[in-house]
Amino acid sequence: MTDPLLSVRDLQKRFPVKGGLLRRTVDQVHAVSGVSFDIASGETLGLVGESGCGKSTTGRLILRLIEPSSGQVWFQGRDVTALDPTQLGTLRRDMQIIFQDPFASLNPRMTVGAIVAEALIIHGLAKSRQDREDRVVELLETVGLNADHMRRFPHEFSGGQRQRIGIARALAVSPKLVVCDEPVSALDVSIQAQVVNLLEDLQQKFGLTYLFIAHDLSVVEHISDRVAVMYLGRIVEVASARDLYTTPLHPYTEALLSAVPIPDPTVKRKRIMLQGDVPNPMHPPSGCHFHTRCPIAQAHPCRSEAPPLREVQPGHWVACHLRG
Ligand code: SF4
Repeated sequence: MTDPLLSVRDLQKRFPVKGGLLRRTVDQVHAVSGVSFDIASGETLGLVGESGCGKSTTGRLILRLIEPSSGQVWFQGRDVTALDPTQLGTLRRDMQIIFQDPFASLNPRMTVGAIVAEALIIHGLAKSRQDREDRVVELLETVGLNADHMRRFPHEFSGGQRQRIGIARALAVSPKLVVCDEPVSALDVSIQAQVVNLLEDLQQKFGLTYLFIAHDLSVVEHISDRVAVMYLGRIVEVASARDLYTTPLHPYTEALLSAVPIPDPTVKRKRIMLQGDVPNPMHPPSGCHFHTRCPIAQAHPCRSEAPPLREVQPGHWVACHLRG
C-alpha cells in the first residue's frame, strides 16, 4: 500500500462501569482492544462483526467523537489523538460520518436546507446566503433529492431519503474520509442497494475513502476493496474482499460467511451455527476471545494465549493459532 490516508495503531477503548451510592468505577467494558489497520486513499475498508463487537466504537474513536483510552489514529500524517480542539475542528472537514439511524441523527426542528447548510456555516464555506442556498441545492441533487426538499422537515421523508439527507450533510464540507456507520442497516432491503450504489457513485465522483461498518458480510461484499472482521474488540481477519469471501481463514469469518445467502441455488454452503452467546465484554475470555464458541478450539494454546494478527499470505492477515 502507498502511504495510507488513515492509519489506526493499537487503538483501545475501555468504558468505565459505575456502581454503588458514590457512582465509583467498579468495572470496565473492553470495547476496543488493540485495533490496528490502514486505509489507502480512495479505498473502502469494510469493518464487520456482530452487534457489540466494537466496530461502531472504532469508527467514533477515529473521528474522536469519543476519546480513546490509548493508541493512535494517523490521518494524512497527523496524529488525530494529539490534536487540540481547534485543530480537531479543522480536521473534521476532512473526516465525516454517516450514522445508522438517519432519523435520530437529523434535528427534527430544522428544515433539510438548514441541516445541510449547518456545516457550511460552521466552516465558513459559503460567502453569501445565495451561495449557501445554491450549494445546498447542488448537494441535494447530488444525492438524488431536489431543491423543493430544502424547505421540508426530516419527518416528511422516507428512511432512504433521510439517509440521503445525512449523506448530503456529510458531503457539504468535501471530506476525504467518510465513516459509514451501518448506513443501510435501518433501511428496507429494497432500499439498501440504492443507498450502497449511491455511496459507490459518490466515491467515484469525489475520490472518497470509506470505512464502511456493517454487521452483515453480504452488505459490504460489493462496496469493499478489503474487509476486516472484528470479534469482541479485536480484529481477527483482514483480507481483500475477494480472498475473504472465497478463502476465509478464521473460524469466526467462516461462520459469518456461512450465513450469507448465495444467489445461485445450485451452490450449497453448509451453515455453521456458533454455540453460545457473545461473551460479556466486561470479562472477555482469556487467550483467544473466540475460544468459547470456536468449533475447532484447543485447550492449549487457544485458552491461554491471544493469537497475534499475522500476515499468512500477501495482504491476508489472520489471528488464529491453528489457521494460516
Ligand atoms: Fe479458534 Fe483457537 Fe483459532 Fe481462536 S485461536 S479461532 S479458539 S482455533
